[in-house]
Amino acid sequence: MTPPRIALSGRVTDHGGKHHTGVHVDYIHALTAAGGVPILLSPLMKPGHASRAMEGCNALVLTGGEDVHPSRYATEDGGRLGKTDPARDQFELQLFAEADARGLPVLAICRGLHLVNVAMGGSLWQDLPSEWGPEPALDHDVGDRWDIRSHTVSIRPLSKLAAAVACETLEVNSFHHQAIRRLAPGLVGSAESTDGVIEAAERADGGPWLVGVQWHPESFWRESDGPDLNLFRALVREAS
Ligand code: MN
Repeated sequence: MTPPRIALSGRVTDHGGKHHTGVHVDYIHALTAAGGVPILLSPLMKPGHASRAMEGCNALVLTGGEDVHPSRYATEDGGRLGKTDPARDQFELQLFAEADARGLPVLAICRGLHLVNVAMGGSLWQDLPSEWGPEPALDHDVGDRWDIRSHTVSIRPLSKLAAAVACETLEVNSFHHQAIRRLAPGLVGSAESTDGVIEAAERADGGPWLVGVQWHPESFWRESDGPDLNLFRALVREAS
């Protein structure tokens, strides 16, 4: 099998005034371990170049990071947003549109899931701890412990996600204060935490493979037989 080229959306990070662009190394390790060739893209590219950047790529991974700006889902800033990056929003919406137009499989992770939901017409909780109710949500943002599986998700039987991870429940890590509020019409939920927060969604119709998860499966790439790496393997299979 020729290893497929998999485009990865990057971010810009500030290291004491020095700005870097790229992705957390775990994304590269996970895709490589799953048999793909990661191709790094940066939101510093012109949005108009998204199409050219995607040429020759067989799949797209939308990665985690900043909050999607609420103007993208026609909502006012409620005052509890984390960091946003309007240029990244714009670039990734272009990348997603390109992947869609080309019929490419897409794996969307955390912010990536939120971006896909917004791109397809859904909305977001801007800040789960202050907006979710009447019962408080679980702690979905446990700090920088990427290695800790802090809550459980139930996976919808017969979903694309279930086929990919080959299990019905999964302990996941959790680093998000946002979540899907109104699910986009073209998506169907494929996993939920015990408090009812949507933890994964996928394309509802028979279009190209599109799975989004709110946890960070790339953090567990070292578990070579684990369900998280199987998600990347599923993407690589679809891309091949
Ligand atoms: Mn969570």
